[in-house]
Amino acid sequence: MLGLMQDRPLLISSLLEHAARHHGGARIVSARPDGSLVRHGWPEIAARAAQLAHALAARGVQRGERIATLAWNEHRHLEAYYAISSMGAVLHTVNPRLFPGQIAYILADAEDTHLLVDPTLLAGAEALADKLPASLRTIIVMGTEADIPAECPLRGRFELLAQESLIAGQPATYPWPDLDERSASSLCYTSGTTGEPKGVLYSHRSTVIHAISTLQKDCFNIGAQDVVMPVVPMFHVNAWGIPYSSAAAGASLVLPGPKLDPASLHRLIEEEGVTFSAGVPTIWTALLNWLRAEPGRRFTRPPRLVVGGTALPTAINAGFLKEYGVSILHAWGMTETSPLGTTNARKPENAGWDADRFLDYARKQGRALFGVEIRVRDGNGQEIAHDGVAFGELEVRGPWIAAQYFNRPGDPAFTEDGWFRTGDVVTVDALGCIEIVDRAKDVIKSGGEWISSITLENLIMGHPAVQEAAVIAMAHPKWDERPLLLVQPKPGMSPTAEELLAFYDGKVAKWWIPDAVEFVESLPHTATGKLWKADLKTRYKDARKS
Ligand code: ADP
Repeated sequence: MLGLMQDRPLLISSLLEHAARHHGGARIVSARPDGSLVRHGWPEIAARAAQLAHALAARGVQRGERIATLAWNEHRHLEAYYAISSMGAVLHTVNPRLFPGQIAYILADAEDTHLLVDPTLLAGAEALADKLPASLRTIIVMGTEADIPAECPLRGRFELLAQESLIAGQPATYPWPDLDERSASSLCYTSGTTGEPKGVLYSHRSTVIHAISTLQKDCFNIGAQDVVMPVVPMFHVNAWGIPYSSAAAGASLVLPGPKLDPASLHRLIEEEGVTFSAGVPTIWTALLNWLRAEPGRRFTRPPRLVVGGTALPTAINAGFLKEYGVSILHAWGMTETSPLGTTNARKPENAGWDADRFLDYARKQGRALFGVEIRVRDGNGQEIAHDGVAFGELEVRGPWIAAQYFNRPGDPAFTEDGWFRTGDVVTVDALGCIEIVDRAKDVIKSGGEWISSITLENLIMGHPAVQEAAVIAMAHPKWDERPLLLVQPKPGMSPTAEELLAFYDGKVAKWWIPDAVEFVESLPHTATGKLWKADLKTRYKDARKS
């Protein structure tokens, strides 16, 4: 017997309509590159999104057609988010920090027909002109005619339009179609930390369910009174869904634009009364150091932060809490998981722990949100014990987890029984909390046993002469792989290999200690700021124990 309930589709347009209809009092504050602010409400954003959708429809944009954006967190990007997906086309957010070759690759892979570009990123698009795919017809500059330079080399090769001229005079309401909720809504490529970027194609259904789920108390905990500042970019995993979840909650949004330096962020938090913000650890580390540099600086009302993307260093978490009263929630996720998968919020079992004990525990990535099932299997396919010690690869499934990659059928990341293999190697403890110990591709497989490269990196980062370190596998005739330690020393310091290796004594099993050390001037990073181990592995693939 079926239930007798209405079957209204879960659509992105419904988020916008809800916010515009019921939350006219919320603010959408957008920072321009010069630091000045522009203000709208949800009703204006909805009206401008409708105008953009009319303009795109008039240009013949069809359902399912991919429309790319190269933009920061600002209101025109938000309008594009809603206009493109709600009309049935697919929003393809492109990370401007990717290497030019990668940007050209993903634009071609997505077969984008239109590209919306922020004026500050136009020069980057011009530099790419020769590599842009044949599918691309039109470039829309996200501003006015004055934002398009007279000598723009894209003119003539592409139709070049200004967004404001395009939408001027268009109707301020749009009959958003009743799409199938499983229709594609947006496309985001992984940053290619472990290989070629792969496209993740979200649906209206996955996006709306993810948005509603992230509002819950042990996740973002956002309501209509919140002022939410996504520092995490709208070009990477939809800014963790915040443009959608904020609309569902009717919250205010502060979109920080291209300037993410600590002074700009602190000013926005103070002046706009930001109550909640989300971003990667690097952003918050810089803000903490900046605050500390001038003892008078504080937060009038400390915001809550959610941090993920790479592990949250305990020292940063402790510094914010103890010195500035800012509490940080540690979260884990991936492009393939929309991205929220786990958060480390307290449970009854650790509710009574004192601050220091919980700060130490908060280094772990957390427990599954409802909607995300997790399974962890070792190299033999056996599920590991939940003892916080055994480790294996994390697999997930649920309504906002990718089922396959765009244009890449049969990728081995998806198991035959319907799970997504994350490539993250984790332990699980008795509270169900995962801790990432490595990526499957980076784990060093020495004589059939696994060595965690991240554990070795974190330990050596505690050495006073080490600025940054990476541990990668080098081929070994007997053990298959052995760890190689790459170290960038702190300026003016020159530690010896022996001294660094001795630092591991007593901290890890003897057979975990790297076989060799290489000193480097710097280590390569990906567009999202992570150590780029694939590059290091290529460079050092012939390294051998000397
Ligand atoms: P990419 O896979 O290209 O790096 P993503 O942004 O999708 O791009 O990165 C997802 C990966 O980031 C995860 O698989 C995990 O390795 C890492 N990650 C995400 N959150 C955390 C976290 N809180 N702690 C440690 N690593 C994390």
